[in-house]
Amino acid sequence: MSAREFKLKSHGLTDVGKLRDHNEDSFAIRESEGLFVVCDGMGGHAGGEVASSVAVETITDFILNQKEGDWPFGLDAEAPEPGERLRNAALLANQRITERIEREPWLARMGTTMVSALVAEDGTSWVANIGDSRAYLWHEGTLRQVTSDHSWVNEQVQRGVLSSAEAAAHPLKNVITRALGARDSLPVDLVEEHLQPGDWLLLCSDGLTGMVEDEAISTILSEPDRDPEEACRLLVEAANAAGGEDNITVVAIRAALPA
Ligand code: CA
Repeated sequence: MSAREFKLKSHGLTDVGKLRDHNEDSFAIRESEGLFVVCDGMGGHAGGEVASSVAVETITDFILNQKEGDWPFGLDAEAPEPGERLRNAALLANQRITERIEREPWLARMGTTMVSALVAEDGTSWVANIGDSRAYLWHEGTLRQVTSDHSWVNEQVQRGVLSSAEAAAHPLKNVITRALGARDSLPVDLVEEHLQPGDWLLLCSDGLTGMVEDEAISTILSEPDRDPEEACRLLVEAANAAGGEDNITVVAIRAALPA
């Protein structure tokens, strides 16, 4: 592969928030491989922390150390290979979590969301997600959610039963319809995007998006000199200033022109 047309800069930050006494989110950044992961765990008896960290470790290990021809959940030859890597990594994480539950039954209720991205040398980016952790692409002042939430309220929005505003305030807004740790078959959503110089790719848990409107997120990213570290700090501060009701995790990736 040729050298990147731009330099990738990234930073990640996780924060317990204002109300919870422990943090069940996990994230990983492997900038040289273009790999980024955010997981938001759930379940009693410390299960949330276990599920999200098992998922992040499994996904990172699979993507970094995958042997040629190693496709534990099959390779769709028609599909782009980076997406297939993310899909296999997610399903392997699901398997690791269910195996852990079999060994440690008190963790039976644990599960985790997952959003992961692989950014190639030329800016082509593949994003995989399960649950309601999100990826956004910011391009020339416009912020666009590139993932679909696997949540009960989003299903009602898709059916026209709830408006987006009603969904955001709904008492069941935290109910997700897909998670790693499920025994049944698990479809992994994959999207392909293209990062251009100046663009941001943002991965986050719902502790950010449940507290901070997309417009406010976009405003923070729109400052031309903003670097990823500062962006993460300001996003977490904004979520905490709005109440910090949940754990907050952000991974901010910027395609910067070489200096
Ligand atoms: Ca959460």
